[in-house]
Amino acid sequence: MKILVIGSGGREHALVWKISQSPLVTKVYCAPGNPGIGQIAENVALKVDDLPGLLSFAQKEEIGLTVVGPELPLSLGIVDLFEEYGLKIFGARRNAALIEASKAFSKDIMKKYQVPTAFYEVFSEVEPAIAYIEKHGAPIVVKADGLAAGKGVIVAQTKDEAIVAVRDMLSGNAFGDAGSRVVIEEFLRGEEASFLAITDGKNIIPLASAQDHKAVFDDDKGPNTGGMGAYSPAPVVTPAIHEKAMTEVMRRTIDGMAAEGRPYRGVLYAGLMIDGDSVKTLEFNARFGDPECQPLLMRMKSDIVPVLLAVANGDISGFTLEWHDQAAVCVVMAAKGYPGDYPKGDLISGLDLAATMPHLMVFHAGTSSAGTSFATNGGRVLGVTALGDTVKDAIDRAYAGVSVIGWDGVHFRRDIGSKALGR
Ligand code: ATP
Repeated sequence: MKILVIGSGGREHALVWKISQSPLVTKVYCAPGNPGIGQIAENVALKVDDLPGLLSFAQKEEIGLTVVGPELPLSLGIVDLFEEYGLKIFGARRNAALIEASKAFSKDIMKKYQVPTAFYEVFSEVEPAIAYIEKHGAPIVVKADGLAAGKGVIVAQTKDEAIVAVRDMLSGNAFGDAGSRVVIEEFLRGEEASFLAITDGKNIIPLASAQDHKAVFDDDKGPNTGGMGAYSPAPVVTPAIHEKAMTEVMRRTIDGMAAEGRPYRGVLYAGLMIDGDSVKTLEFNARFGDPECQPLLMRMKSDIVPVLLAVANGDISGFTLEWHDQAAVCVVMAAKGYPGDYPKGDLISGLDLAATMPHLMVFHAGTSSAGTSFATNGGRVLGVTALGDTVKDAIDRAYAGVSVIGWDGVHFRRDIGSKALGR
């Protein structure tokens, strides 16, 4: 079977890597892909939002399954379009992907179906929003309703900071249309974890636990990024927390979405805040996390293709996923200045040596070809991911990989996985 993966980041490199190991697969395409992906699959020069182009490519090449990486094509309705033309595709339909595309919608679903989450209210006018902030005080969290590439959330330490954020968002200056409504919610304390599950809208297969590192600097300092690293398993997700996340978060949300006439198929990602035995949902994403996908797929023992195909066919009953006992750690190597402005075109050294290191994969995120080598071409450039018998082993192996790779101004966190060691 031929498979088309849509996207161009580290997550898609990991998906292509895992999918291409399946004996069911004859060829893997990736649109648009990146040069790392191009070493193991055929890149197709189509953008992720070029829905007509992707559809005609899939028809022409007789693609047996399309797997969608990022949220944008989901929120544009790529799954609905492919299904209309009888093509198999893994991902959430447009009316279900709204669970990520609108935070107001997602919070309303959580409230209606008793999914534990922070108290909140939704505003489209400045004055009542300010009155709410005055009433509840700080710290308090202000979120732009729509997609804002992970930057639409302000965790305000003071009332003034929250009020400035509300004004910026509702005036349309900060995030355009995505900020025309805001969610203001209770500040939650605890440790975050990423809980992902594959579902056909009825049955739920949880993935292994994971934790990402959003802040740009060590000790969770500095602004949030798309993710500076991740590890799996996450010891904060104890068996009791896992059970709670399955029953109170996943089951209620997936049943709730079905009851709303928005059956959820694909991968549902819940960002959880865990405090003692309390589990609250910070957000939902309608896709695999990036970088969580990289360590998760390195730990996945099962062939991923049958289960992805079963979701596209609408029934995963009887399927399970098996995992390696080993831990996996992904360290993101980023360009200088990320998540702000950053240079492109710096030559990357050491990739050949890293490729010889055992239990290590270097997933490309933002790279370009530079002759026989590679150069930086994005904020997050590489995801250096290793397997180890313990989290400590995986950390050591990932950083051994990082230590041989470099370019001018490279930046990475030095504490990926350390929270797991503390437990
Ligand atoms: P992503 O980049 O994962 O899509 P996002 O922009 O959709 O993120 P959220 O995950 O809702 O936004 O929030 C981003 C981060 O802000 C969270 O990972 C968490 O660290 C912090 N955060 C969000 N909501 C709260 C809250 N209620 N209390 C404390 N911290 C919060």
